[in-house]
Amino acid sequence: MNTLTTGIPQCLEVLASAKTIIITTHQNPDGDAIGSALGLYHFAVNRGIKATIINFSPTPANLQFLPAAHGIEVYTPESHDALIAAADAICILDLNSINRIQTMGDAVLASPAVKVLIDHHQNPTIDAGVMVVDTDSTSTCELIFRIIDASGLGFSPESAMSIYTGIMTDTGGFRYPRTDAEIFQMAGRLLDYGADPVAIAENVFNSSPFSRTVLLGKALGSLTLSYGGKLSVMTVTADDFLQTNALEEDTEGFVSHTLSITGVVMGILFVEFPGKNAIKISIRSKGDVRANDLAGEINGGGHLNAAAGRMYNRSLEDVRAEVVEKAVKYVV
Ligand code: 5GP
Ligand code: MN
Repeated sequence: MNTLTTGIPQCLEVLASAKTIIITTHQNPDGDAIGSALGLYHFAVNRGIKATIINFSPTPANLQFLPAAHGIEVYTPESHDALIAAADAICILDLNSINRIQTMGDAVLASPAVKVLIDHHQNPTIDAGVMVVDTDSTSTCELIFRIIDASGLGFSPESAMSIYTGIMTDTGGFRYPRTDAEIFQMAGRLLDYGADPVAIAENVFNSSPFSRTVLLGKALGSLTLSYGGKLSVMTVTADDFLQTNALEEDTEGFVSHTLSITGVVMGILFVEFPGKNAIKISIRSKGDVRANDLAGEINGGGHLNAAAGRMYNRSLEDVRAEVVEKAVKYVV
């Protein structure tokens, strides 16, 4: 169900009357998650709302250049449960299932605050009082743009920078299928409001620690092709992390390399996190090859061409063999 049109005025009504709000986004946040949280945060703060961003995971290093990113708090029950319970509204961004905020979910659901869900994933399972949900949107940042635009109050440079960042990252640098004239017009307006596309790209894409590139080298070295070259598989092992001193967040973006090969229609990245008994499976695809359906088979989800899931307490080899076998019907 597309509740975008009814959701935006309701969302603005909530923001017009709220005095304190909590903003949160999914674990292992990406550019769209942090960009949308900060885009909304600056809008709220400029209207005199006391806003706090509380996330389950810390903010990745390459997004800490965004204005106020250093003020984003990492959830602990002791520090935040009372704040979450007392807020007028809780804005839940860029996620469709409450387990994507892990242990923070219980406190959010228990709070009497109005919940505002702003998201572009399919099949939202969160029952929020206000829903700004549009699966046709490139990004949650696009929805934040529409909300602020509908307010008629304009964008601060801080909001514009944050929103541009999420649109840029969730469109793969303006390359994925939903990149159309309208999204370029939005990007152009964000530039008018003060977003600097060169500085943002430089910070997001060209500011990685050397250890990340060494890890990427190992990941590229692991690439294999199956099913007549239609599926490419990349693997990052716990050992790779230990040898390179790279962090979990450093694998962000690796999976896009699986699709860079001619003839490949689906790419899968398996990441074995050290000491966690968890394998993350990131799936990307081209055209109408359904990455989200494959992710759904392993209790994950996402979008048509970008989806993911996690499997626990299984060996990497086991998980990889099972998922590659499941992939055959999507690629052949
Ligand atoms: P990524 O591979 O970049 O982490 O995730 C790709 C897409 O899948 C994102 O849109 C993300 O929201 C979604 N996704 C990632 N992890 C999960 C998960 O554990 N469960 C569900 N339902 N979706 C996920
Ligand atoms: Mn997103």
